Amino acid sequence: MKRFIYWFRNDLRLHDNEGLLKATQKADEVLPVFVFDPRLFGKNSLGFRKTGVYRARFIIESVADLRASLRKAGSDLLVRVGEPERVLAELAQNYDVDELHLSKEIAQEETDVESSLSKRLKQLNVDMAFTWMSTLYHVRDLPFAINRLPDVFTDFRKVVEKNATVRPTVSTPEGVELPRADYEAGEIPTLEELGFAEEEIVDLDPKGVLDFQGGETAGLRRLHDYLWESDNIASYKETRNGMLGPDYSSKFSAWLSLGCLSPRRIYEEVKKYEAERTANDSTYWLIFELLWRDFFHFVMLRWGTRLFKPSGLKLEKDKRWRHDRDLFEKWKTGQTGVPFVDANMREIVATGFMSNRGRQNVASFLAHDLGLDWTWGAAWFESLLIDYDVCSNWGNWNYVAGVGNDPRQDRYFNQYSQATRYDAEGEYVKYWLPELGKVPADKIHRVWQLTPDEQQEHGVILGRDYPLPIVEADKWLKQK
Ligand SMILES: Cc1cc2nc3c(=O)[nH]c(=O)nc-3n(C[C@H](O)[C@H](O)[C@H](O)COP(=O)(O)OP(=O)(O)OC[C@H]3O[C@@H](n4cnc5c(N)ncnc54)[C@H](O)[C@@H]3O)c2cc1C
Repeated sequence: MKRFIYWFRNDLRLHDNEGLLKATQKADEVLPVFVFDPRLFGKNSLGFRKTGVYRARFIIESVADLRASLRKAGSDLLVRVGEPERVLAELAQNYDVDELHLSKEIAQEETDVESSLSKRLKQLNVDMAFTWMSTLYHVRDLPFAINRLPDVFTDFRKVVEKNATVRPTVSTPEGVELPRADYEAGEIPTLEELGFAEEEIVDLDPKGVLDFQGGETAGLRRLHDYLWESDNIASYKETRNGMLGPDYSSKFSAWLSLGCLSPRRIYEEVKKYEAERTANDSTYWLIFELLWRDFFHFVMLRWGTRLFKPSGLKLEKDKRWRHDRDLFEKWKTGQTGVPFVDANMREIVATGFMSNRGRQNVASFLAHDLGLDWTWGAAWFESLLIDYDVCSNWGNWNYVAGVGNDPRQDRYFNQYSQATRYDAEGEYVKYWLPELGKVPADKIHRVWQLTPDEQQEHGVILGRDYPLPIVEADKWLKQK
């Protein structure tokens, strides 16, 4: 009689879950477990939570959805709060488990937990079995050794597209046979139980792009809607740089990051859509973007902790980053006096989401215009983003801050030209900065130039209703 634990990590789904499938095929009984690790909800050295309330809620919803699906399948999900390495070793001992199965993670904190758990399990003679699951292309199918990962994304993409194939999704386990022994299923903790104070527990602003709901069920629904219901995927390439509303990009990221959606499932669904409806540049481009996601996962695998340090992948030691808390606070709260930056920063604070266009711009502004330590910005994103993914977040920040490995990339964004290009009518800025609601479109992205008379006329007094810029902003107009 073989009894295994299956530890769910960032793979909160039943579809295309190879690790779970293998465990159920090999064992007579499987104990599915999820552990809320309090260390992930605590505060960092900058004084804010590593996982803020929006993502915490999304995780809770995802776990609840997984539990409901497992219960429907005649099984259950054990839920615990504590340090996974301790909790799981204890469960393994109490239930006389033979093996513990789990997905492979690659970033420092996650692999530290793996090592610590492995030491404890060794003493109990319990084996650990890892499955690689988070990327579109399997790490073993890469046509190069990981220490030969190309520095430049395009080189990576070309060689992968030419020489590797995406493995097919695996089937959903038919049944997950629970141990016959008595067990305590455990309650899913509330936000309060995870340490959030009453005033921190705020709802997502309904003005957000989507009412993000955690879990595999909602993730699969979004996949279905974006492809089959709305056909939005067929115009993805033209709309992906938008910033308003649910349709401009897929919004799959939140479900991908917790593994509620499998990238291979998305891939197969897109292929099916191409066969049955349309195959065009847009359908290709969505897969192309999933390759960016893969790229940053492999960058993390190759470079590890370098991604979290100000010197970055490049080991850029000469650059001096500023550590000015006041400036940082202004950036965080959207009070820089640069409307395009402020609108984006207010959006992420209110909703836990920001478009890719916005992320690139506010990151460039923090690192290059303010000269602030970019790791602070990355930490703020980590706290707020519902779709936070350790590899994509820290990888993208490295590249925008100019400490990535790509010699060809100049990631300086001119805020004025970006704003006039991607928000020509100022609709986005007005949406998040209602105090600028009456400023005409041709002036809104250089609002700091309004004369006193114009300020009166357009109902905004600079320095009172809206801040004056904290950088010399006219430089962008001269560069244009
Ligand atoms: C500074 C910065 C920080 C970021 N932090 C994160 C993060 O924590 N988590 C995260 O998932 N993405 C992150 N991104 C990448 C990107 O902004 C988001 O993936 C995207 O905006 C999510 O929206 P979407 O799902 O509608 O994307 P779509 O445009 O619909 O793209 C489809 C999918 O492709 C992947 N993708 C697209 N662009 C990128 C990219 N540049 N890098 C990696 N994957 C990409 C995502 O999985 C996304 O869901 C960051 C980008 C920047 C510039």
